[in-house]
Amino acid sequence: MVASSPSRLFAEISTAERPEGARVVMRRAVVLGASMAGLLAARVLSDHADEVLVIERDTTESGGDPRPGVPQGSQVHGLLPAGQIQLDRWFPGFSEEAVAAGVMIADHDSARIHLNGVLRPSAPPLGGGGALVSTRPFLETLIRRRTLAIGNVTLVTGQAKGIELSATRVTGVRYTPTGSDEAVTEAADLVVDGMGRSSKLGDWLERAGWPAPELKRMPIKLNYATALFRRDPEISDASVVVAQTTAGKGRVARMGGINAVEGDRWIMLIAGYGADRPSRDLDDFKARCRRDFPRVFGEIAERAEPLGEVITYHQADSRRREFHRLSRLPGGLVAAGDAVASFNPVYGQGMTSAMLHASCLSAHLRSGASPAEPARGYFDRVRVVVDAAWQISTQADLELPHVDGPYPKGYRITSWLGELLFTASMKDRELNARLNSVTTMVQHPLSLARPSTLLRAVRALAR
Ligand SMILES: Cc1cc2nc3c(=O)[nH]c(=O)nc-3n(C[C@H](O)[C@H](O)[C@H](O)COP(=O)(O)OP(=O)(O)OC[C@H]3O[C@@H](n4cnc5c(N)ncnc54)[C@H](O)[C@@H]3O)c2cc1C
Repeated sequence: MVASSPSRLFAEISTAERPEGARVVMRRAVVLGASMAGLLAARVLSDHADEVLVIERDTTESGGDPRPGVPQGSQVHGLLPAGQIQLDRWFPGFSEEAVAAGVMIADHDSARIHLNGVLRPSAPPLGGGGALVSTRPFLETLIRRRTLAIGNVTLVTGQAKGIELSATRVTGVRYTPTGSDEAVTEAADLVVDGMGRSSKLGDWLERAGWPAPELKRMPIKLNYATALFRRDPEISDASVVVAQTTAGKGRVARMGGINAVEGDRWIMLIAGYGADRPSRDLDDFKARCRRDFPRVFGEIAERAEPLGEVITYHQADSRRREFHRLSRLPGGLVAAGDAVASFNPVYGQGMTSAMLHASCLSAHLRSGASPAEPARGYFDRVRVVVDAAWQISTQADLELPHVDGPYPKGYRITSWLGELLFTASMKDRELNARLNSVTTMVQHPLSLARPSTLLRAVRALAR
């Protein structure tokens, strides 16, 4: 058990400082999945293992295009400031390289955020960082390139089929290499599940006589539609625009986004819930942009040249797997990224969470924990990251008319406080910056519960 308050642990995990004191404590680590969680875990493990083997089922490097193993990859993605901080921490100079390659760093000045039709005042999150804006495959390609340039990291393609276990711990991984019919076994001192939200790790554990982590879900019934357009300064100078409406008083909960991305393009998203479901039809996309979102959405959708088709995506629920509650957990096994928790994507927390999980792995191994033991210290830290993201996203989702729980303890009071802070942040720049620090995952939500913050909110509202 890691003995520290959630806020303090979160501050340690989300630090920008380069990790010191890494020791090689294992011969070989095997990482399943070469997406955000797997690549960052491989980077961390390259400091602690003689050899890191990454197994990925997709045979093609994305090369900037969406790939089948990450079906959400064609939808709008942005990396929150806390994620940018972690990328620069693990890959020094990453942001500069990314910008040189075509990624944009959106800060409070370049991003326009509309809430219920009102433009939010701008304020930088305390603690720094900007959002990295590009298509998701483009960002992944840059991370993958840096990870695979590390001398002791190797990637093979194939489908992971299961884990090998002794009486106390994981000893290896079974996988079928691409182009072969026969599964092979790779020995491992530590295995990382980075296989995303549909990971089968729980089934594998149960089949071997170990308990599977409980899966908690919150049904959200979210519908996304994304389209690419050629950027044209004569139509708009928009670089990052977010427009959100919350349910209530004749309003329907919706979300729209415009990002200027590499290749001189705009990627545009419109999203609704339940029966409010944008289709793949471009005319429907245009009509919704014009009808439901600020003017710039309609301008771009109707006047800019469409590049490719409208692509839709449905996410039924937010979900988390409660590894930290397992009564029995084999040694040498960790899970990261969406394999642990996947949230309503409108809050943009997924990739950043995966990066913070890598930081948890580093902190766990640097604390002197043996890879042979159950990684309790790792999952205690991951829980802090998941709780923080879950609280922010589910608190807002519980306001949706079609979402009816589960309600956490103290929901009414946290909901009331959230509303108070939010309304006050529209009037007070400092409060806005504090709120941004939490929604961008730079700081823990408890940082907003300080008496000084609440007092400031009350004063701002009284003015
Ligand atoms: C519509 C939508 C929009 C989103 N927008 C954002 C956003 O703006 N910002 C943000 O931060 N996040 C966003 N997310 C969330 C983000 O996509 C995920 O959180 C993130 O990709 C998780 O990374 P991961 O590595 O854990 O899992 P994934 O990206 O799902 O990758 C899993 C990997 O494991 C591989 N794999 C799976 N099974 C096997 C197997 N048996 N053997 C070998 N390999 C296997 C897959 O091929 C894949 O490479 C969004 C999600 C959705 C659905």
